[in-house]
Amino acid sequence: MSKTKTNIRPVTHRFALGDAWVTTILDGAQVREPLRPPFMLDKDDAELQAIAATHRLPWDRFENSYTPTVVEVGDMVVLFDTGFGPNGRDNGAGMLRERLAEVGYQPEDISVVAFTHCHPDHIGGVMEGDALAYPNARLVMGRVEHQAWTSGEGIPDNRAGNREMFLKIFAPLEAQLTLIDGGEEIAPGVVAEEAFGHSLGHMTYRVSSGDAQVLIWGDLTNHYAFSLPHPDSPVGFDDDKPQAIATRNRVLGQVADAGTMVVGHHMPFPGVGYVRRDGDSFAWVPASYQLWL
Ligand SMILES: [Zn+2]
Repeated sequence: MSKTKTNIRPVTHRFALGDAWVTTILDGAQVREPLRPPFMLDKDDAELQAIAATHRLPWDRFENSYTPTVVEVGDMVVLFDTGFGPNGRDNGAGMLRERLAEVGYQPEDISVVAFTHCHPDHIGGVMEGDALAYPNARLVMGRVEHQAWTSGEGIPDNRAGNREMFLKIFAPLEAQLTLIDGGEEIAPGVVAEEAFGHSLGHMTYRVSSGDAQVLIWGDLTNHYAFSLPHPDSPVGFDDDKPQAIATRNRVLGQVADAGTMVVGHHMPFPGVGYVRRDGDSFAWVPASYQLWL
């Protein structure tokens, strides 16, 4: 096999949603091991192997991929989550800003950065060195999420480093921050919804334009094969596991029954799809040509 060739994978993706444009961008991808934890904490080796085999996936490692989303509506450009930023660049991530430029968005063009939550793969790209990565952007964050990380109340011990990172980034940015609650509209047709559990104040965002709609669900589920079809299985990444399980079941049921298009930060790139019910559980339905019709 030729040593001069490398894998090629798509890293940017755009489709029209009514009068809006939705662009998903791969911030990067990392191979992580093992698979359990973080996934399938309630399954033994044999069960894990059987489930992985069903999806033609290995059972001892997985690829974690990170897909922030940009929605352009009217004269506003809203970026949902910022990827890892500079800290990710030694490890296959932190590519968001470079790839935004490849699809025509300069850092100055971003008018709002809306956070689903404050884990490192979502807030790491707020700063570029000592400067704001998106200098003109208002920073929008759930009030409950902000309160939890600020006070530290209910933040699990394994997120101590994450909390330090949060405080370092956001303490000096009070003037740029707008705190929101569920039901608030952050841009024309873009409404925040509470989906607590993965983090204590995790938010999703529903984007509507004409008859078209997409739910940007952040980390509602973290893996198309190991969390989405097993919504009751506790996931190590979830900061309040029982609440995450309840929220996952509620929102998955809602989007499955309504046929709502969704974008997931950790769904396989381009991260766009639908959910269908599968018995008592759910299955991921990747979007295909319905985006282009
Ligand atoms: Zn994440």
